[in-house]
Amino acid sequence: EGRDTRLRVVLRVRPLTCTETRRGDQQVVHSLGDGAVHVSAARHDATFGFSAVFDAGASQEAVFEGSGMRQLVELAIDGFSCTVFAFGQTGSGKTYTLMGPLAQSETQPASPALLGLMQRSFTCLLEQSRSRGSDLALSASYLEIYNEQVRDLLSPGPPCALPLRWSKTRGFYAENQLSVEFESLEAIVSLLLQGSQRRRTSAHALNRHSSRSHALLTIHVRSRAVSAHPAPGEGWGASACPSKQGTLCFVDLAGSERVKETGSSGELSVEANSINRSLLALGHCISLLAKPRGKRTHIPYRDSKLTRLLARSLGGSGITLMVACISPSSRCLSETLSTLHYASRARRVTTRP
Ligand code: ADP
Ligand code: MG
Repeated sequence: EGRDTRLRVVLRVRPLTCTETRRGDQQVVHSLGDGAVHVSAARHDATFGFSAVFDAGASQEAVFEGSGMRQLVELAIDGFSCTVFAFGQTGSGKTYTLMGPLAQSETQPASPALLGLMQRSFTCLLEQSRSRGSDLALSASYLEIYNEQVRDLLSPGPPCALPLRWSKTRGFYAENQLSVEFESLEAIVSLLLQGSQRRRTSAHALNRHSSRSHALLTIHVRSRAVSAHPAPGEGWGASACPSKQGTLCFVDLAGSERVKETGSSGELSVEANSINRSLLALGHCISLLAKPRGKRTHIPYRDSKLTRLLARSLGGSGITLMVACISPSSRCLSETLSTLHYASRARRVTTRP
């Protein structure tokens, strides 16, 4: 608490897809063990180090247990602001890592083994809340940033833009965002599904189900220390029962991409440009934050909605886990290298939880 804490950065390399295998793509990324990964291709030869590397064979459970996600859930219960964000090129496995294949097929439920970090965290959160026997109140909000507009994915009706505000206690927040209470796994999974269906996706060349927006699902965890014998007539006095408020935020970033490669045009290229602009702003903030505290200049969080909403996670009092996702294919080499450089830089970022 109060001490400089580094961002935890782990890497996930997805398996080659059927298409990539059929077309005979070379595998250019190899895990060396101990958090090291090696990229070797004609003119590139580089090694990168992370807190953990999950290769094509890693199960969803292995990623949950090995990434530190369980600890993050516990810290949220203890009152910290925790964030996990998936970052990487379109089609690199971000949504798969967070939600599993469930997000892709609405008709058939995914097998439990394939559930992603989110569902596993919900289960863990609800188990913990039961076993601690404390009075935990859980609620969820779900936002997306689409073309630099913040939208509520849980409120019914056509999507309307929410204004972003700033306050000393809360930092940046979306005004009037809906927060829905839940008590069971079924309830929160159904909120996640509802919201994800509303999330804007449009088909384009790289990934049929590619997400065109950044999505932020936040679980608010409020716990009250229940005293065994509350004095008669005494409410939940601030001093008698200090309450803790933590958050656990899951961020599924829209993928970085080059407009030419995806064959985007018209509306799609407007989308691609605003995605790239906010990712650029995020990259800029990360590289400034990666400098030692004493040498830091002003951090331009205000450059995009995304960086405003992530300000606390990146440079404030949050605890953050970044899951960088890459494809092993030779065809994705330049995007893969850019993700690896970006993620390496993020390892130097510190926060003060
Ligand atoms: P992104 O969200 O980064 O655009 P997706 O999560 O949608 O990418 O993944 C792209 C495709 O690759 C999907 O068809 C997904 O099912 C598959 N995929 C991604 N990661 C894995 C993995 N670890 N194991 C098996 N399939 C995966
Ligand atoms: Mg996605």
